[in-house]
Amino acid sequence: MAGEGVCQHDELLLECSPWAEETGFERPDAVKRLAATTRTGRNPLAAKGKSAQVVKKLSQEAAEQLSASFPGPLLLPKDELNWDPDYPPQSCRSWLIEPARNKLTPERKTLYIAAPPVVTPGVSFMDAWTQPTTVPASELHEIDPPSTDDSLQYLSAFYHGLPVNMFPQSLRFVPWTEPSRHTKPGGGHGYVGLACNDVCTRIRTRETPDKKFKRQLNLNDLLDAAIEMLPNDAYSIIMLMNFDMYEDDDDDFCCGRAYGGSRVSIVSSARYHPSLDVDEGIDYDHMWPASHCKTFADSLCAIEGLEPREHIISIYETQYSPIQQAVEAARKSQIPSSAKDRSGLWFSRVARTLAHELGHCFGMDHCIYFACSMQGTSGIAEDVRQPPYLCPVCLEKVAHAIACEFQERDQTGKEEYVKERYKAIAEFCEIWKHVDLFASYSAWIQARLQQLPD
Ligand SMILES: [Zn+2]
Ligand SMILES: [Zn+2]
Repeated sequence: MAGEGVCQHDELLLECSPWAEETGFERPDAVKRLAATTRTGRNPLAAKGKSAQVVKKLSQEAAEQLSASFPGPLLLPKDELNWDPDYPPQSCRSWLIEPARNKLTPERKTLYIAAPPVVTPGVSFMDAWTQPTTVPASELHEIDPPSTDDSLQYLSAFYHGLPVNMFPQSLRFVPWTEPSRHTKPGGGHGYVGLACNDVCTRIRTRETPDKKFKRQLNLNDLLDAAIEMLPNDAYSIIMLMNFDMYEDDDDDFCCGRAYGGSRVSIVSSARYHPSLDVDEGIDYDHMWPASHCKTFADSLCAIEGLEPREHIISIYETQYSPIQQAVEAARKSQIPSSAKDRSGLWFSRVARTLAHELGHCFGMDHCIYFACSMQGTSGIAEDVRQPPYLCPVCLEKVAHAIACEFQERDQTGKEEYVKERYKAIAEFCEIWKHVDLFASYSAWIQARLQQLPD
């Protein structure tokens, strides 16, 4: 059964696109990737008496096997690694010994999620700031924004084994009364206050440079407020925001950020609104997992004058694998057009970014080893091409933190944990299978589980 409009191309790209070479990006090779998944930093295939040559050959074979479950980072033109090809990798070992990494303890284990702050009457002018300026109001009202409860359920599955709770206090935007030189004459809105209990934090706002929203909020100020609210038993807190955000003068906008060491993070849903997708140039045919379509990657490389290459393809029809199953699931779907579909699409993007930002609170840096939920991103178009799952390196970090350090399980227990976690996420995806990302994620997990030993 074929869907309408969704990618029907037959070849998948399981390595970096040819563009990677142009940028100077050097993906860690098979030997280094395997070594990056272990706590010791040693390649598990290296044993006494094996020559480097043999280890290399075995690693390459293992990497080839793994690539249909965990393809490489695509690295298409204008992707994050395009701008920063020398970004350092964070192996499991370097994550483990990172001094700034916070560990879970029985006293400090809860992940809190805070619902978007309420706009109080004193700052009712802010209501207009959440609406994209380019979209008719009638269209906006049809599409439900991502719900905090759904987000909580997703994070509970993604960080399986940890309590995820609603932050109990309600957050409020209030007028910021201190006189300020930023306040424009005639009642400009340079600052607003973010109140939680009796603490109020000053939040800078500015006009949105690209005019997609009227104004946006400074995310550093919002994160400072989050630090103030961190409950004693919190491992971390993540704030949902329905306002557009910015970090500093150099950026147009920012969808999410974490201060990992301070265990606070924030995600804005504003830019993920599906009604902005046309402006962002989002290709609905080639969001993850169809982002790994070779024809698609070649077409983006061709814009930069690059010829397609032959040696990096896999014809997926021939093989049962997680990526192939995920693409099959995506092919059965339709381009999201109803209000319900578009709400689901919106939520799926926010969910992925929530898991990513919380990952920084676990001490995880951006991932360059594989296509991965922890990859850095240069914008919405790249965001939607990235997978929701954790690659083997990042999964090892989460499994070690939760199963070993927190639950005190051994190696076997950790392997059990990985399967339990996959099953918890699959259960979530089953409920959300009307949304493409989750349908594909579920198919990917089912195939991946079959590869893991019983
Ligand atoms: Zn990040
Ligand atoms: Zn990763």
